[in-house]
Amino acid sequence: MPSEIASRVVILGTGGTIAGTAANPADHVGYVAGQRAAAELLGVLPGAAAVGVETEQVAQIDSKDMDRATWQRLAGRARHHLGRPEVAGVVVTHGTDTLEETAWLLHRVLAPLKPLVLTAAMRPATALSPDGPQNLADALVVARWPGAGGVVAVLAGAIHGAAELRKLHPYRVDAFASADAGPLGLVEAGQVRQFRPWPRGSVNLGLPKLGQAMAGASAQAWPWVEIVSSHADARPEGVHALVAAGVRGLVVACSGNGSVHAALLPALAQARASGVVVWRATRCLGGSIVADVDDDDDGIGPATPLSPWAARLELTLRLLCGAAA
Ligand code: ASP
Repeated sequence: MPSEIASRVVILGTGGTIAGTAANPADHVGYVAGQRAAAELLGVLPGAAAVGVETEQVAQIDSKDMDRATWQRLAGRARHHLGRPEVAGVVVTHGTDTLEETAWLLHRVLAPLKPLVLTAAMRPATALSPDGPQNLADALVVARWPGAGGVVAVLAGAIHGAAELRKLHPYRVDAFASADAGPLGLVEAGQVRQFRPWPRGSVNLGLPKLGQAMAGASAQAWPWVEIVSSHADARPEGVHALVAAGVRGLVVACSGNGSVHAALLPALAQARASGVVVWRATRCLGGSIVADVDDDDDGIGPATPLSPWAARLELTLRLLCGAAA
């Protein structure tokens, strides 16, 4: 199918602050997320931005409450629309709280060639100066841009790749960054300025069946993976309780370059010995663990370059397809 006819964009609404409302326009924190439909968010944009745009409401939630069933539905609808020849790209309106997790999940299970653009807002739709309309307009620009592809997030004029996206601030409008790598590009007055190649298509980590495994398994059947953190004054009882309760995987949010408190080490070793898969990620907001070339497994489990939250999803998916190390 010739690419020039792929000009439609589909917005999949899931809720979040971008769709949130407050009684008082000055209220940026006491609002209720997930109140306005995606069609209403589109309705406030200038007419030209909305031409050729369809909307579909997949969920209407505060993204702090994101769950597997909603992810599964979202991935299914995104896959469906991305597969339509007339669709150039898909935009997902989402809350900021778990945006990183949804971005990683969609990146791993869909790895689309076309752009799948997540956007969100830090201020509710009723704010005196809401950031949502501009973010949505910018996301539509990216979804239509011929050079775009893969899962990206567009916020505050910056385009972030799914692998690097981090929420760094709980309140500021410019709350997201791309860790060490910097953004993929910017949206400036309706134009994309690209800084580096975009992650489009197969992520090819040797797990070609990830998407099918996730789509095929009922959400209840996803393996249970938790994050435990290593911190000063750590105690092992939490690890023991999780193992006793049947956890299948643990991601240790480690201090610094993957260090783990001595009080947790025996409990984690025991967890591993009983068949629980244990991974280490850094709890630092930027960067990733640099492996010790002499001994990259200290007996606790392999280090992942992902954030603890992305690593938890990655391990869940790998356990789901029987590919966890
Ligand atoms: N709690 C909101 C959410 O994640 C925060 C936001 O969207 O900024 O849905």
